[in-house]
Amino acid sequence: MRTIGLIGGMSWQSSKLYYERINQLVADRLGGAHSAQIILNSLDFAQIARLQTEGRWKEAGAILANAAQSLERAGADVIAIGANTMHKVAPQVMASVRLPVIHIGDTLVAALRREARSRPLLLGTRYTMEDPFMIDHLANKGIGALTPDRADRDALHAIIYDELIKGIVTDKSRDAVLAMIERSATHEADCVIFGCTEIGMLFPPTEAGLPAYDTLELHAEALVDFALA
Ligand code: GLU
Repeated sequence: MRTIGLIGGMSWQSSKLYYERINQLVADRLGGAHSAQIILNSLDFAQIARLQTEGRWKEAGAILANAAQSLERAGADVIAIGANTMHKVAPQVMASVRLPVIHIGDTLVAALRREARSRPLLLGTRYTMEDPFMIDHLANKGIGALTPDRADRDALHAIIYDELIKGIVTDKSRDAVLAMIERSATHEADCVIFGCTEIGMLFPPTEAGLPAYDTLELHAEALVDFALA
């Protein structure tokens, strides 16, 4: 089995879901007492979030690149950035290591293509919904993502940073996000992307009201495919 190197802490709420999901997939596939070989390099999210807010992406990228290099030195065989937003600096991380970096957007594109989805609603942080890195990643593969309107983007961003990264899950926020998805269906969305690794804390993809693609789940599956290949 190959060893997965996970850059986590973005947030730690989703890192624990990555840890659980990756181990569960390995246990399901190999049976017995098997579990995943994982090295977790968990960052202090306050530092990352501050650099995001101040637009200092290159510095944030350098922190992730350092984390990736230490995972490489520690014996990982593959690197994953355990968040969507920080894939904004994925090229910087990829350039800093010899190991493969499994890009969360590639795992998403593969899943959308498998089911011939062409008009997904992209939910995530304001950075993921408004900066072009994820939208372009999809557009380059012929997938035209929709995003919620400005008020919904702001509300979702606040739910992620004020609540979900702290482990706070409320009915009010759950209903607000479900309502966003419902509104988007009237704008021709054929599915919804959980493009933030904390969104699955609100409700499972099966309860989204549209076919839903949880990037954490897809990323975990791709990592386990690699680890067990
Ligand atoms: N985990 C989140 C994501 O998937 C948000 C936290 C972050 O900004 O990294 O985008």
